[in-house]
Amino acid sequence: MSLPAILGGTPLRPQGPPAWPSADPEILDVLQQAGREGWWGKYQAGKCDQLEAWLRDYHQVEHVLLCGSGNYAVELGLRALKIGPRDEVILADYDYPGNFLSIHAVGATPVLVDVDSRSWNLSIDAVRTAIGPATKAIVASHIHGGRVPMRALMELARERGLQVVEDAAQATGAIIDGRRAGTWGDVGVLSFGGSKLLSAGRGGALLTNNAGLAQQARNHLTRAGNIVCPLSELQAALLLPQCQKLDDRNALRWANVKLLCEALADVPGVRPFVQADEPDLPAFFKLGFQLDESAFGLSRERVVKALRAEGYAMDEGFAAAHTARSPKRYRRGASLAEAERAHAGCVQLHHPILLEPTVWVRDLALAWRQIHNHAELLAGLGE
Ligand SMILES: *Cc1c(COP(=O)(O)O)cnc(C)c1O
Repeated sequence: MSLPAILGGTPLRPQGPPAWPSADPEILDVLQQAGREGWWGKYQAGKCDQLEAWLRDYHQVEHVLLCGSGNYAVELGLRALKIGPRDEVILADYDYPGNFLSIHAVGATPVLVDVDSRSWNLSIDAVRTAIGPATKAIVASHIHGGRVPMRALMELARERGLQVVEDAAQATGAIIDGRRAGTWGDVGVLSFGGSKLLSAGRGGALLTNNAGLAQQARNHLTRAGNIVCPLSELQAALLLPQCQKLDDRNALRWANVKLLCEALADVPGVRPFVQADEPDLPAFFKLGFQLDESAFGLSRERVVKALRAEGYAMDEGFAAAHTARSPKRYRRGASLAEAERAHAGCVQLHHPILLEPTVWVRDLALAWRQIHNHAELLAGLGE
């Protein structure tokens, strides 16, 4: 067994992480065509219409509204649902931090609840016990390759008269119980931000099957006939060729993640957010790992440093909201013990490597193993 790069060994991937977005001649074609034909500077060129039609068809939903960001789409969804002051919105304590702020943006109060111990995604039991008289909605995000069990969540929401914003910004194209992520909630959210699976640098979309909600959202999005937080025609045109590749890419990412799950099965203290035998299709903007520092034998900070030294795009996960926000700004569910563990123990891998040849995924498993085997030596290193 060779030495980890951080101890002077040769990095497994000396070229470092692959770029994203990746080089693509179809993108160059779009840019050249836009330049030649001049539609990049127009309000209307049919590209947004095409993208909306593709997204409607792909997701099998009635209404798609394009907008300027995923964050804005979450806010727009809450506004369409008429969530406002004195309302409470439940979300996972361990979630994309912007969602907490989007709830505040509409004047409502976040209710922070725990995550599931296997997936570190929103726990349905935790949602159930946190519902109070002022609770109006739930924000459910699929995070780091995990998926919220949407069928059970929607059953609970219907039973208790709650609305659901389903945030599929990290899970575009994923399938949950036979349906695409983003189509279970009363409204669904996609992001086309600079690092996302479908990327236009910026951008987002709201999905819904409810004509009334679509109209509410359209009213908020439009001022004097003009869209106030738009996706541009050029952005839409750049997304169209990526849409055609989404399914193949999601399949390839999942195949690589399965291999990684299997290759890591006997390394103590580390477990991906998903299992190799997951039903349907997860999608991976990030692949999350649950790190148990004491079982693995090394602090998360050191693990991330050591994996980065091998040439992999690894980062620590999110801060749990309760650790970052004033208690005056939220209500707290019964227990946040798992979210606490996620806060301290999540390590995430950025997705581009998951489209590379399998050897790089096997090498990532090898990197984890080598680092674990040298944990004692690594723990003893100075800064
Ligand atoms: C990226 C992301 C968003 C926000 O999307 P932007 O387009 O960057 O505003 C929202 N939710 C989740 C889960 C995300 O990962």
